[in-house]
Amino acid sequence: MPELPEVEVTRRSFADAIAGARIQAVALGKPLRWPLGCDPMSLVGQQVLGLRRRGKYLLADTSGGLLLLHLGMSGSLRFSHGLPPAGVHDHFDLVTDRGTLRLHDPRRFGAVVYAPDEQAPVALKLLGALGMEPLSDSFSLATFQSGLKKSRMPIKPLLLAGRLVVGVGNIYASEVLFLAGIRPTAVASRVGAERVRRLHEAIRTVLTRAVQMGGSTLRNFSNADGMTGHFQSSAHVHVYGRDGAPCHSCGSAIRLLRQGQRSSYFCPLCQRA
Ligand SMILES: [Zn+2]
Repeated sequence: MPELPEVEVTRRSFADAIAGARIQAVALGKPLRWPLGCDPMSLVGQQVLGLRRRGKYLLADTSGGLLLLHLGMSGSLRFSHGLPPAGVHDHFDLVTDRGTLRLHDPRRFGAVVYAPDEQAPVALKLLGALGMEPLSDSFSLATFQSGLKKSRMPIKPLLLAGRLVVGVGNIYASEVLFLAGIRPTAVASRVGAERVRRLHEAIRTVLTRAVQMGGSTLRNFSNADGMTGHFQSSAHVHVYGRDGAPCHSCGSAIRLLRQGQRSSYFCPLCQRA
């Protein structure tokens, strides 16, 4: 599943190229997760003003509103001139005078949704509950700390829920909790200030590095958690997928536990809080 770093890498790959493009045609394939929400013809003639990201959504601002794009489980976007005719898994083409933006999505959990503006109900429904952006200056330690203080949830599912901070998917959650020395089952409100500070820093560091690595660690998906062989063997991974293997820091065997439907990996010695 594409995670926040891969979506950000996708954004950077064509944000400059598409800014200023004039929409000439729209072609829809099979239904996606949500309907487009407008007559495709109404987009023709609009200009794409820019491309932003919020959580795992890409927001293409146009002269007539915005398009919210989501990659779902298996989606990918290309923006190029001279694309071949749409294939069986290509479900959205935005043809512009600077190239065609194409959503390829075999499983069709992705979507392209039109909203007249960000305050429209359809946009609020998708974006309204999203937490802070981890790579933005708005991700403040104080707000993060007070959000944790208000929750009696175990910290890992709280991070995964994305209502406090977005982008901390299952692999990243295991890793940042290891770096901060926090047990995945720790009650959020009881985590001490120093560990919260380390967690805040780890979230920024790990996600920034993932973007800098070009999202390549998450490009090929080998299982439901979006894990790749490359990522798994990477020295950057301390706990995820390493149950039974020795902790890089203390040598203890990494443990696996289930929280809800998700796998959590941790070091019993390094993550005692
Ligand atoms: Zn350890």
